Amino acid sequence: MLRALFIHLSCSENPFPSGTLGGKKERSGKPPLPTIEAMSRSIDPALNRKIVSFGRSIFADLEDIEESPLSMRYWNSQLMQWSMSVPDFKVSLFRLVDVLPTLKSPEAVGDHVRQYLTEAAGRLHPSMAWLVGLSDCLLGRLITSFMVTRGVRQMASLFIAGADPKEALKPLRRLRRNGYCFTVDLLGEFCVCEEEAREYQARYIDALNTFGDEVPSWREAAPLAPGHPGEISPVCISVKLSALYSQTSSLNFKRSVDVLSERLSEIARAAQRRGALMYVDAEDSGNNPIIYESFKRVFSSPEFVSMPYPGIVIQAYSKGAESRVHEMLDFARSRGAPIAIRLVKGAYWDLERVLSAQNDWEFPLWTQKESSDACFERLSRILLDNTEHCLPAFGSHNIRSLSHACCYAEQRGLTPKNFEIQVLYGMAEPIAQAFKSRGYLTRMYVPLGDLLPGMGYLVRRLLENTSNESFLRHTFFDSEEVSTLLKEPHYSEPHDLAKDTTVPSTAATPQGDGVVMHLDY
Ligand SMILES: Cc1cc2nc3c(=O)[nH]c(=O)nc-3n(C[C@H](O)[C@H](O)[C@H](O)COP(=O)(O)OP(=O)(O)OC[C@H]3O[C@@H](n4cnc5c(N)ncnc54)[C@H](O)[C@@H]3O)c2cc1C
Repeated sequence: MLRALFIHLSCSENPFPSGTLGGKKERSGKPPLPTIEAMSRSIDPALNRKIVSFGRSIFADLEDIEESPLSMRYWNSQLMQWSMSVPDFKVSLFRLVDVLPTLKSPEAVGDHVRQYLTEAAGRLHPSMAWLVGLSDCLLGRLITSFMVTRGVRQMASLFIAGADPKEALKPLRRLRRNGYCFTVDLLGEFCVCEEEAREYQARYIDALNTFGDEVPSWREAAPLAPGHPGEISPVCISVKLSALYSQTSSLNFKRSVDVLSERLSEIARAAQRRGALMYVDAEDSGNNPIIYESFKRVFSSPEFVSMPYPGIVIQAYSKGAESRVHEMLDFARSRGAPIAIRLVKGAYWDLERVLSAQNDWEFPLWTQKESSDACFERLSRILLDNTEHCLPAFGSHNIRSLSHACCYAEQRGLTPKNFEIQVLYGMAEPIAQAFKSRGYLTRMYVPLGDLLPGMGYLVRRLLENTSNESFLRHTFFDSEEVSTLLKEPHYSEPHDLAKDTTVPSTAATPQGDGVVMHLDY
């Protein structure tokens, strides 16, 4: 799977220049949602001024932060800057990180460092050239291997809180002491057999038991924001559903939903026993229809209808996202109890692009980053207009996207108790800190897992930090003008694509090819 992404990295960043079509096939039969004209309409200028001013105050907070060269964060940031200045180095470095856990001897690590990095390292920095140059002799290979393996492990530990729930207790407690709540995700591998699927499910139940035994007794478990629905419990998990069944596939839709609903129910039962909150993550567009169907089946059943705020994730980069939001709000209405909805942009854009191009499939996502940003804002407003049916959670590191949600909520007379902000552990901490200090409940999404499955996750974080389209890259590395970063986004897709806002139907979703596509973003 990562190989497909590396192919992408070697190509240009976006194959759909603004104004061109991203998909070839027509889709019909579903009523069109609002026209592109309605979707593109600018927001109230007074609201926009407020968002810009709020965003500027967040940027002002970031100015005072400087990493010490003694910290791991400083060197991680340095490495990111180098890799962005020499694109070949970025591809080679991420390839090395990906392959590292499979290399069994220091000689093998040293060999791979030499083969992957020699050419690019010379153009980077004398210290890098020196480190790579060491691997020319046996002793040098041992030193290089030690330093590279240790460095990558430390880098992974910036984004992954521990190998298992017990190891994570300390960092999780620290998070709450610092004023953040959390949701824990268990990193998984490709699930190729039922034994692995069952093992993965058991790890979730074990995590709920460990946290349920420990966390409520902490002094730090007291609600960070009393009365906030997100603080009904200090324990929260995020489940990657597709990896709970080895045959998850849209070609096997009914059975996938049957099995996943049953397995999700077992996890929900453990969560309910412990009074924990839970989210079901969104994945690629092949698996998402299965995930949404299973979510609705489980949380509409009499056993779980009283479970508070079961959470689901919606991806604004999908052309079907607005339909999906309405579908989930309808579901909450029919359930008679609110759900939580985490709005994100979506983590599988590159993967879906490569697969669509390889297989000549219709591309189900927006092709321009600005359209995803605009969609995120539009959907934020819809969620905030419906807080009696949902607890909106805005999962983003983009200051404009988050500022828009906070200011629109205020304009509607809502309070910070009506929604929450969510960020990934180890990413954009200064931004999380800025929102938390303004009184917004801020939840860290915390992955746990061993180094091997963790490498895929680490590479995706590195890709996100260095992508040309990334808000974080422009904020922290390119120092782009604040006014540009805070500009109101508009849909920039051709009209005929924008009209295609239907939820992908099971039969029409070609990605489900029998291969389990589970990936930790
Ligand atoms: C707490 C949390 C939980 C998350 N849970 C999930 C989850 O369950 N499922 C999931 O898929 N992701 C999840 N994500 C990841 C999320 O979808 C984004 O990948 C990530 O947050 C980057 O988006 P941003 O708004 O922070 O940054 P920005 O830099 O503003 O946006 C980057 C995003 O824009 C979109 N984009 C990039 N290029 C293009 C293009 N050419 N055309 C259209 N759109 C483009 C992509 O979605 C990309 O991730 C989660 C993120 C957070 C913070």
